[in-house]
Amino acid sequence: MEPVRITIFDTTLRDGEQSPGCSMNVHEKLRMAHQLDRLGVDVIEAGFPIASDGDFEAVQAIAAAIHRPKIAALARAHASDIERAWQALKGAARPRIHVFLATSDIHLKYKLRISRERCLEQARESVKLAKSFCDDVEFSPEDATRTDPDFLCDVVQAVVDAGATTVNIPDTVGYTIPTEYAQTIKMLRERVRGMENVVISVHCHDDLGMAVANTLAAVEAGARQVECTINGIGERAGNASLEEIVMALRVRADRYPHITGVVTEQLYPASQALSEITEVPVQPNKAIIGRNAFAHEAGIHQDGVLKNPLTYEIMTPHSVGVPDSRLVLGKHSGRHALSLRCEQLGYQFERRELDEVYRRFVVLADQIKHVEDHHLLELVREARNESPRIPPSQVEPSPVVIAAAVGRAERGFPASEVRGLEVQLSSVHEHQSEQEDYLWGV
Ligand SMILES: [Zn+2]
Repeated sequence: MEPVRITIFDTTLRDGEQSPGCSMNVHEKLRMAHQLDRLGVDVIEAGFPIASDGDFEAVQAIAAAIHRPKIAALARAHASDIERAWQALKGAARPRIHVFLATSDIHLKYKLRISRERCLEQARESVKLAKSFCDDVEFSPEDATRTDPDFLCDVVQAVVDAGATTVNIPDTVGYTIPTEYAQTIKMLRERVRGMENVVISVHCHDDLGMAVANTLAAVEAGARQVECTINGIGERAGNASLEEIVMALRVRADRYPHITGVVTEQLYPASQALSEITEVPVQPNKAIIGRNAFAHEAGIHQDGVLKNPLTYEIMTPHSVGVPDSRLVLGKHSGRHALSLRCEQLGYQFERRELDEVYRRFVVLADQIKHVEDHHLLELVREARNESPRIPPSQVEPSPVVIAAAVGRAERGFPASEVRGLEVQLSSVHEHQSEQEDYLWGV
């Protein structure tokens, strides 16, 4: 069966930018948009033109500079918003107007103060207006997951009839759960006439930590576009994280017959670029692109990863663009990892010599959290001064890519990820039989 292509709609520059501390100027947005283009996303939501002159200019600049992905601009369901969005977008090679209108009773009553009938009419009219400017029109019933199901079907029917080409079902407040969200998608596919000709999109927030799980449940239920952001930035707890969705689909291709156009090796560079631009750091344990996502400290894990990365890694750091899986040397590290790092720094030791360095290493690691390379060099120098048997290595420091060292024939992730990644590991096996290092187990 042919895998189903999922459209990746990136909203880092719109919803993402709305997160506290993440605002970007026009130049920064343009830089990020170029990185999103390299990453291979299908749609870049570049901003909300009516919101500010800066947003307008950013959408205009991105529309002019970037031609491969579709460029979307957000608009409320008002003529002035839609016209402003089109003004910003009209230079784009592939423009999309994204109109939204809240549909839940709580939003209708307290925020918009309009009836359901008025809401339905406004949704229909705004899609018609957007359609008069642009063929590609997306509609979002805001707070869809708290909207009465029958009314949600009515609104979606109205905008499909009015010509919307994508219908997005946002979990605006991060309230839904995977089974419920999947049911909503199925319901719309069953009850809305013409739904098969429209792309169903999903947009999840992480207030309950389920944005990615909800997104994947919706994909299984038939959604074909996912809205997401780099590093999962976005309103409040953030949006569904692009890198997590993309890698879940890729690593678990056995369960998800879906593909994306994302160049996964650009995930880490995209994450780094965003973090650098916004000066908002990524949490260290963030899946896929966090500093510790590929770090192994426990001795038994380090040893396993050195022998074969598949023992503790379900994907290679290389496959998401991380240069290597920085083994963190700490007090739980074993002799094997210490020896390899020393080799990378240009030192090779006989067993007895390594014992001495290891003894000193354990003492130091007890005092400081992470043993960095400069600590290690100092430690080796000290050991050498007191023990003339330890010679400086003759080998050049070599950039061994530790965790990218995967044999071609190994199973666990697609062969395309391991091709060309053969790395000499012969030097690694020297101490592999030393079980005494495993003072701290799994
Ligand atoms: Zn949102």
